[in-house]
Amino acid sequence: MSTPDETTSPATSPVKLGILTSGGDAQGMNAAVRAVVRTAIRLGAQPYAIYEGYQGMIDGGDGIKKFDWDSVGSIMHRGGTLIGTFRSKEFRERAGRLKAAANLIEHGIDHLVVIGGDGSLSGLDLFRQEWASLLEELASDGRITREQAAAHPTLMIAGLVGSIDNDLVGTDMTIGADTALHRIVDAIDDLASTAASHQRSFVVEVMGRHCGYLALMASVAGGCDYCLIPENPPADGWEEKMCAELKRGRDAGRRDSIVIVAEGAQDRAGNPISSEYVRSTLEERLGEDARVTILGHVQRGGTPSAYDRWASTWLGHEAAKEVLAATTNSPGMVMALRGNRVTGTDLMEAVQDTRKVPELIAAGDFDAAMALRGGSFTEMRQIFHELAEPGRVEPGSGAKRVAIVHAGGLAPGMNTAARAAVRLGIARGHTMLGVRNGFVGMRDGQIEEMTWDDVEGWTGEGGAELGTRRTIPSVEHLYPISRSLEEHGVDALMVIGGWNAYQAAYLLHSEKDRYPAFNIPIVCVPATIDNNVPGSELAIGTDTALNVVVEAIDRIKMSGSATKRAFVVETMGRYCGYLALMSGMAAGAERVYLHETGISLGDLYRDMEWLRESYENGRRLFLAIRNERASEHYDTEFLAKLLEEEGKEEFDVRSTILGHIQQGGAPTPFDRLLATRLTSNALELFREGWADTTGRSNKSWYIGLQEGRVAKEPLAHMMEHVDPTFRRPLDQWWMELQEVFADVSYEPSTPLHDSL
Ligand code: ADP
Repeated sequence: MSTPDETTSPATSPVKLGILTSGGDAQGMNAAVRAVVRTAIRLGAQPYAIYEGYQGMIDGGDGIKKFDWDSVGSIMHRGGTLIGTFRSKEFRERAGRLKAAANLIEHGIDHLVVIGGDGSLSGLDLFRQEWASLLEELASDGRITREQAAAHPTLMIAGLVGSIDNDLVGTDMTIGADTALHRIVDAIDDLASTAASHQRSFVVEVMGRHCGYLALMASVAGGCDYCLIPENPPADGWEEKMCAELKRGRDAGRRDSIVIVAEGAQDRAGNPISSEYVRSTLEERLGEDARVTILGHVQRGGTPSAYDRWASTWLGHEAAKEVLAATTNSPGMVMALRGNRVTGTDLMEAVQDTRKVPELIAAGDFDAAMALRGGSFTEMRQIFHELAEPGRVEPGSGAKRVAIVHAGGLAPGMNTAARAAVRLGIARGHTMLGVRNGFVGMRDGQIEEMTWDDVEGWTGEGGAELGTRRTIPSVEHLYPISRSLEEHGVDALMVIGGWNAYQAAYLLHSEKDRYPAFNIPIVCVPATIDNNVPGSELAIGTDTALNVVVEAIDRIKMSGSATKRAFVVETMGRYCGYLALMSGMAAGAERVYLHETGISLGDLYRDMEWLRESYENGRRLFLAIRNERASEHYDTEFLAKLLEEEGKEEFDVRSTILGHIQQGGAPTPFDRLLATRLTSNALELFREGWADTTGRSNKSWYIGLQEGRVAKEPLAHMMEHVDPTFRRPLDQWWMELQEVFADVSYEPSTPLHDSL
């Protein structure tokens, strides 16, 4: 047994907070643990790690360890959970929970943060409810004193959802789901190339016993042909329909067919649909080779994605704040991401809603099961049907000609957006036109009709097959552009791109009275790695760039692990600090320098003072991320030289400008899904524009994600929402995350920047 802490009186000792991970492991748990530990220290509490889930609490001894700031250093890039997880049978029994309570009291711990699935969280709630009676029993038996019991009348709890299935009702994303999706989509991309070479069908089984999130999102992001999920079983005779759809896809130009099966897939009568059954059905009915790949535990493996690191850091930070602010009357809360914000939800309500889904599926109430999964899940199911439906829908009487153009810098996911726009547009009865080489190509008449199979294989391709240019049309180009639009009978324009794309669209829209060809619905879809366009919290391509940056920083940090070293890494983003701050948060940097907050001499002086002291006290690695435009004169080279001068013999300095690798690479699942969802919504908006025949109102918009929803803003008012000098939105939601970054990155003794 470990020695009990001498004092447990809250008046004389800091609040003690335990943190544990329980149930299935999930990528991002380490980032959450790190954030809970460091935020607790920042707020004056003493954190304790509880090893192997609830079992560590029951066993006591080395299962419960005091953690300090450095205990959680350099753990974010590691998969799984560093403090271990376990499915503890003993904790399900009151006797086990009694032992657990005794061990917590021994350490004076009465605040608990648990990261786990719905099982772990309901166990936590039960423990909280029983706490007073457990302590009463322990005191009666003389295992703790009456004073100890009186000093800890309540167990304060906060839960975080760690589950790769993304199955907790009421949250957008659970910890680990994004990384699992990365693993699955990577595997689908790999399989697609071999399947295409042999003209073969693949059946891929993914995790999800009661939740089809991974299967459905992987099907959309991977450009698959058919998908079977538990919440929405296929109608009787689905085998025939599936084979017919796959055959039509082949006839329309596909070289491979991929069917995704969630492990809990079933038919309407509740009979399981196995991946092997799907395979044999395909082989028998289509008469060609079909193979099964069961992804299994690969989905839990590897390095956590950038999202699972920054989102889990934010969640952990808020969980620590929540539990430390809790009072004896507070209900148990689970901290979850809703609409891209962390919010607290009643823990047991969330668990009960989650448990309703399998019950509804078992009762055959599939509509209600789908409804609990939320609006965007149902929307994606519909979009997937349209995307996978091959071939040409003959244009009806209301058929329109819709042109797609890219403009601005290259962003991964532009191809995904163009593919989705073409296929969804065709499915909705339009003629889709592709403009090559941005507005320059539009001026030169490089516009041609695009067919369903023209965009085959574009889902996972980086780059932009249609080409993109940064050029914003000049006044003399407006006439040839208008002629070109007229000649091709363009009824609507989808502009997919970044800052310059938005400026160009704005210009055309402003000139609609002079050039009737511009008096058509125009919708801007955000696609830029800089994440600096208005109306969308995230642009297509930003998540991919962030993952590239974080992966590069992981390698850079590793290269410095053998010596004492300081790194300065420069990211893109122009005047927008999103990539710098978020990569700093996801890769565990000590400092970020942004244009929004600037770099002052005072900041640098304090940073150098701190750094020198920190290296003297044993620091081995320092990482600063600098946005490319953070300061005109204090550039990356200057920062590196400053560090070198100050570091002298104490440490080496290396600087890296990441450059254009940030624009390359296959789009991440998130970017593919965002591209698909936004283009689908853009197509729907055109209808609204066409319906308006007055010719006077604004029928052009820029769209994007705002608090988790697709929102639209009128293009005519765009300039009121941006800072034209520094080319970024006036309101940048992520700026509030600077506080989170500061709390988990600098030791409390660190002098903070003036701006923080
Ligand atoms: P998950 O948290 O991933 O859903 P489980 O359902 O296996 O995984 O739960 C993990 C652990 O949480 C269990 O092994 C047990 O220790 C604890 N737990 C789960 N349900 C309960 C419960 N009803 N009462 C007490 N403890 C529970």
